[in-house]
Amino acid sequence: MAGLLSWAAVALAAAQTAPGTPAGTPPDGERLRRAEGFAESLEWTGQDSLRFAFGGVTVVVDPLVGPSGSDRADFILITHPHQDHLSPASVEAWSGAETAVIAPVSVVPEIRKFHEGPIEGLKPGDTFKLGDATLEAVPAYNAKKQNFHPKANGWLGYVLDDGKLRVYIAGDTERIPEMREIRADSILLPLGQVYTMNDVAEAVACVADVHAVLAIPVHWGQYEGSAEDVRRFGELLGSKARLFVPNRKKTF
Ligand SMILES: [Zn+2]
Repeated sequence: MAGLLSWAAVALAAAQTAPGTPAGTPPDGERLRRAEGFAESLEWTGQDSLRFAFGGVTVVVDPLVGPSGSDRADFILITHPHQDHLSPASVEAWSGAETAVIAPVSVVPEIRKFHEGPIEGLKPGDTFKLGDATLEAVPAYNAKKQNFHPKANGWLGYVLDDGKLRVYIAGDTERIPEMREIRADSILLPLGQVYTMNDVAEAVACVADVHAVLAIPVHWGQYEGSAEDVRRFGELLGSKARLFVPNRKKTF
């Protein structure tokens, strides 16, 4: 009888978890609830310019504006040095005595020109402790239009994991084979058309590659990607993943 009960428990657990998801992955409803909680908490000022709390620390990504108050970041993540991602004035405005800047190894010299504090240079595959969370650096590059974000530059996306939620910030990238090795509950990705994704359907394929339950389009409404692309993105996602469109703020 005990054997039958434990078999039933295993069968029930299997029924609640999508095939192919790693062991220990909570049911999709719980993953979605956590992913939505994170999405609602983040602040976005366009492109990849983000501020959020994760692992008990304040994280800023590719900031295009500084803080409006006296807040400082614990960690500033830079994905690559294009001017719509690396703003020296904003990095300096977010930097306090304890702030660490995390950037691709190849970008460290450029940041060192204006920044005196700690800079951690990462390569794809490297991991780093981010408060109580871990950060993994993953590749971000163009597979087809190679002149904008060449793979050889070692520019980055980041996967953050606090033990309850995995968030993948894709950076400026097309759909690349490495994405199939990434698992995330939530993905923040560019909709592209010009510099990143080749079309909206490609962005939808990225969401499926990483098995995300929530997709957050960023990097649109400025140099590439339109509100119509966002609408189409949601349409193509259908029931495969929930769409979350953050409000674009002017200031943090
Ligand atoms: Zn770029």
